[in-house]
Amino acid sequence: MIKAHGYAVHDAHSPLVPFEFERREPGAHDVQIEILYCGICHSDLHQIHNDWSNSIYPMVPGHEIVGRVVKVGAHVGKLKVGDLAGVGCMVDSCRQCPACQEDLEQYCAEGATLTYNDHERGNDKLTFGGYSDLIVVEERFVVKIPNSLDLKAVAPLLCAGITTYSPLRHWNVGPGQKVGVIGLGGLGHMGIKFAKALGAHVVMITTSPEKGKDASRLGADEILLSRDADAMAAHASSFDFLLDTIPVPHDLNPYVALLKRDRTLAIVGVLTELSPPLNGFSLIGGRKNVSGSAIGGMAETQEMIDFCAEHGIVSDVEMVTIQNVNSAYERLQKNDVKYRFVIDMASLRAQAA
Ligand code: NAP
Ligand code: ZN
Ligand code: ZN
Repeated sequence: MIKAHGYAVHDAHSPLVPFEFERREPGAHDVQIEILYCGICHSDLHQIHNDWSNSIYPMVPGHEIVGRVVKVGAHVGKLKVGDLAGVGCMVDSCRQCPACQEDLEQYCAEGATLTYNDHERGNDKLTFGGYSDLIVVEERFVVKIPNSLDLKAVAPLLCAGITTYSPLRHWNVGPGQKVGVIGLGGLGHMGIKFAKALGAHVVMITTSPEKGKDASRLGADEILLSRDADAMAAHASSFDFLLDTIPVPHDLNPYVALLKRDRTLAIVGVLTELSPPLNGFSLIGGRKNVSGSAIGGMAETQEMIDFCAEHGIVSDVEMVTIQNVNSAYERLQKNDVKYRFVIDMASLRAQAA
């Protein structure tokens, strides 16, 4: 076993505190990564607070992990010591079911093994995430990161990036389409960058008027304030695709009204019940679709990273130390981050030394 250092929560109401634990020695197909940066996803906040009623403690959060390969098993092929590598939300799956066979491990029939807040397959050991100094993951669930991108700004691509890239690709977003991204946080700002790079006309749909000044830098062609009923009415029935990243239950009806006939709104934010109920007329009247999407498979995650390298896309990040992670959470809860907090793991190493 390898001794690892990180930060953990021990129940739903306490702050993150230093935590020592063990990782497995790398097996023949495993890669050991020295973690350099880890993004803070809103899902981390949901899970430390047990918002989804499935939290297991102690919990070391973090699934936007980038670092350097320091050890590889004998059968590892695509990565070697010294390479930059990334790990996202999953570290294992069954490999046999139709979803796994189609490179859609996130929809594994047996449930993909999550990077943290889960148990390893075949035993009852907890998985621990990226707010730590090292991780050991099977090669299939590790992506290769090119040297050309700013590594700390790559970290959020491993969740916020793939979670927005995958639905934009699945619903064939491209030139000639008007696409709206709802909610400008970690996911939303990446959704805008990807939709623009895919050639769409992009509308930032936000509750925060002051985020509008970032619109053109991020790649948005228009800003739509969702609390401005007149502005929403002016955009009625005009969108080809909507990506909804709002992290709390909310009224979908005003957003469905923005869709053209036969078009789709894909939810990525809310995992609990939606409220208030959807109005049937608003769907039936235009044969509209409300769907959902979870992260992306490993092959698509590598494709997304390569797309980012080709188009020079990274996340807009604010760096924090591990010692400041609890205040970063408070700010994230208050919607006060542009657009993703990333933990510099050098701060953890300095503390452990
Ligand atoms: P985030 O950084 O906190 O951003 C969420 C954004 O939603 C905020 O910046 C804000 O944008 C808007 N918002 C927040 N509260 C709102 C409210 N009460 N009403 C309307 N808009 C509100 O969160 P994130 O990290 O992007 O994550 C977003 C959600 O996606 C979370 O629930 C997370 O768990 C989920 N998620 C899902 C997947 C998946 O696989 N499906 C993967 C990762 C994360 P404006 O200021 O622009 O309004
Ligand atoms: Zn996430
Ligand atoms: Zn499977």
